[in-house]
Amino acid sequence: MSESVDSADGWQLFLSSIPDGALLVNADGYIAMANEALASYTGYGVSDLIGASVELLVPQKVAGDHVLAREKFLEGAQSRPFGSHTHLALATRDGTLREVDIALSQITLDGEPMSLAIVRDLDDLHRTSLHSDSDLRYRLAFDISVAPIVFTDDHDRILAANDAFCDLLGRTRDELLGQDSTLFTYPLDLGLTEASLERVRRREVDAEHYVKRYVHRDGRVLVVEVARRAAYDASGHLLFNVISERDVTEERSLTAQLAHQALHDPLTGLANRALLEDRLARARAKITRQGGFGAILMVDLDDFKDVNDSHGHLIGDQVLIAVARRLEEVARTADTLCRFGGDEFVYLVEGVHQAEQVRRIAERLLGALERPFTIMGLSLQQHASIGVATWDIESPDDLAILEQADLALYEAKRLGRNRYVVFSPRLHQSHAGRGHDLQALRDALSDGSLSMHFQPIVSAATTTAVGFEALMRWRHHERGWISPSEFLSLAESTDLIGDLGSFALREATRAAASWSSAPDGPYVTVNLSARQLFDPELASRVRTALVDSALEPSRLVIEIPERAALEDAARASLVVDELRLLGVGCALDGFGDGLASLAQLLHLDLRFVKIDRSLIRPPTGASLRDALVEVIVTLGHRAGIDVVAQGIETSDDLARLRAAGCALSQGFLFSQAVPLSEVSTLMGMPLGVEDSKVNPSSMSAIQASATSAS
Ligand code: C2E
Ligand code: CA
Repeated sequence: MSESVDSADGWQLFLSSIPDGALLVNADGYIAMANEALASYTGYGVSDLIGASVELLVPQKVAGDHVLAREKFLEGAQSRPFGSHTHLALATRDGTLREVDIALSQITLDGEPMSLAIVRDLDDLHRTSLHSDSDLRYRLAFDISVAPIVFTDDHDRILAANDAFCDLLGRTRDELLGQDSTLFTYPLDLGLTEASLERVRRREVDAEHYVKRYVHRDGRVLVVEVARRAAYDASGHLLFNVISERDVTEERSLTAQLAHQALHDPLTGLANRALLEDRLARARAKITRQGGFGAILMVDLDDFKDVNDSHGHLIGDQVLIAVARRLEEVARTADTLCRFGGDEFVYLVEGVHQAEQVRRIAERLLGALERPFTIMGLSLQQHASIGVATWDIESPDDLAILEQADLALYEAKRLGRNRYVVFSPRLHQSHAGRGHDLQALRDALSDGSLSMHFQPIVSAATTTAVGFEALMRWRHHERGWISPSEFLSLAESTDLIGDLGSFALREATRAAASWSSAPDGPYVTVNLSARQLFDPELASRVRTALVDSALEPSRLVIEIPERAALEDAARASLVVDELRLLGVGCALDGFGDGLASLAQLLHLDLRFVKIDRSLIRPPTGASLRDALVEVIVTLGHRAGIDVVAQGIETSDDLARLRAAGCALSQGFLFSQAVPLSEVSTLMGMPLGVEDSKVNPSSMSAIQASATSAS
């Protein structure tokens, strides 16, 4: 630089343009030029400095050495960059010393050799560099940043904090300046900051990222993500830390919540299938390492469908929750209790050494369900059956273990329920038992023992049947009439369910076509399970049935279970629309979950909503339910949907439902489901006039099925 600027004016300009303090010193040690920055560091005026000995600015202690050093420097004719010497001090007018760093170069001015000294005030850099004009841009960014940012010194004491940081902690800047983070760090996390600072100080790392907790002034614990970076001087001395933070308190709790949701059953809070599979894999790995064996206990509630049917889903759900709590009470902490789906629970036992231990666990689980449950004022008995499969290193894969437990469970049910069965290879043969039932059902499809019965749907205005619900019946050669709740679940686990669906559609459309050929003749409704509803073949099955029977599409209605529609509303809506294109309407079946889900389900393009029996014959809170029914009817009307009240058993039920505005009803008061041959006797005549009007032949069918089920 000495060559490029060689006039006094040039040097004057240069000195005044740099933010650091700067001075020119001649060979005799007198100050030839000084800038404003230096004047302000030292407290002198520029004019006081010019002509003064440079030792004026040197601490007295070292002034003598300084003279020698300066002369030597001029002789040596080199330059010296910042950072070459540490702990240099500048004496100010009031006698105090400031820590500075000084860079030196040799120049010539008007042919005379001079030293150019640039003085960087380290105190200033430490404490106030953020306030100097040269850092204006950074300062503004710092001030307006929505991210909490703080500068700290080498002891991590706060030098500057922006508004976002103050807001984060609910503290004023005055409270924070000069403090270290101990003031607001969550006590257990104090070591974190200390360790991080130490690593930065030793220059093991330049930047650190970690998560720690703070305590807000109001006592709330905050979780923050911290990014820390340090600035060093040329000698490696830590000058300051910049710390930027992000409040992740909500995010963390949300993530934890989501993680929990992904792995737990929302109703009971127990582990779900995904978590079970993970635990099972881990348990197997552990047994491979440590020996011993494990067990799967598959717990299935006995006749749980009856609870749902006679008391409704609301009570059914409460029973599931209560069962989960009871099982939890006897569960060992090392084991995993999972809701496997519906009314099925799986209990995973890890690291046992005797078969006897597993038997005792099974007994404890059964024992936990001995006492009746009290739910919404009702006393309910709910037992379970358990299938047990044990495994060790030699065992086949997870799926096979679950299958074995399932087989043992099936055997426990077959032997009369409320018991446990341990899997043994012998059961593989009796798997034939289940296979046998399935085969019998398959045969029933073709040998005529499977048929559809029809229950009238009655208009409140005319008290005559305007349509019929088709309900499937199986007349078993040994067991008599079996109701669908018994055999459908068996079929659900195989492809047979598709064939049963086609059968129901075919028989129902044929029947309806036989009642009348008029487009406004009575309609028929056909039930579909969730699995059937989402069967990609559904539309083609429906179309085939319509074509074969030549039934007017508007006389067919598909009943969609509320549960299925709620589980996947988007898919349900696609199905409804697809059927609509064929001219077929849909009914939402078993509606009982309440208004929130109704609001969601009314988006579906429905023809009917069928209110669940639990709302019609509530065990408790009758008036509340009546009010609810009224709201459903009103909302339904507004959406152009007719409401059907199901499970009307007495004229009293009927009166209440009429008062609530229900235009259509169904139930034993009018008739049970009757075989096709008896439908004509119900057609066109007033129904439900007396409570006793129950068709005798179908009554015996139901009784037969009831006895066979228990
Ligand atoms: P759901 O759709 O709720 O059918 C109504 C059930 O309530 C029928 O039982 C019917 O007999 C019974 N019910 C009718 N009125 C009354 C009454 O006043 N009081 C009482 N206590 N019960 C009444 P069902 O026939 O045993 O059918 C049980 C379930 O099986 C049906 O429930 C339905 O979900 C399913 N289901 C029946 N047929 C079929 C079918 O063809 N396909 C499919 N996928 N499911 C079917
Ligand atoms: Ca139904």
